[in-house]
Amino acid sequence: MGEGLELTEDKGATYFKLPCHHEQCGQCTIYETRFDICRSFRCRLLRAYQAGEVDLVEARNRVEIALKLVQAVKANDPDAANAFNRRAIRAGLAEAPDGEGDEAKAIRARKLLDIVALDTCLERWFRNPKPAPADEDQPETSPSNS
Ligand code: SF4
Repeated sequence: MGEGLELTEDKGATYFKLPCHHEQCGQCTIYETRFDICRSFRCRLLRAYQAGEVDLVEARNRVEIALKLVQAVKANDPDAANAFNRRAIRAGLAEAPDGEGDEAKAIRARKLLDIVALDTCLERWFRNPKPAPADEDQPETSPSNS
């Protein structure tokens, strides 16, 4: 790939960091020639919509909620918009510094809550469940035994 994308490794796999630099105002600027991984990726919400488990109104509602949560997190710390950065930022916010005053504590708690809300939303509605290790080589669906 390359393409000036910022790559990162996690648990032996290589990822490019999102948002990628081809995204402008929530839209892909290279949509017609976007990467294969972008073409084939379907988030949990899209899968649920395509399976008829979520209607279009609810799907849009969930996207709106997620975007608002992203904006809140970015307003606190632009670096926290990136999931990889956010892990470390979240861990740092969970630690109370020595001698922290009430006001600083309230601000830290607010930032931490914003991140937890975003991560919870993404985990519940958008991230695909990771396959169990024994299932990794199995097809996505398997024939019924009945
Ligand atoms: S679809 Fe792919 S290339 Fe386009 S903005 Fe999103 S991550 Fe970047």
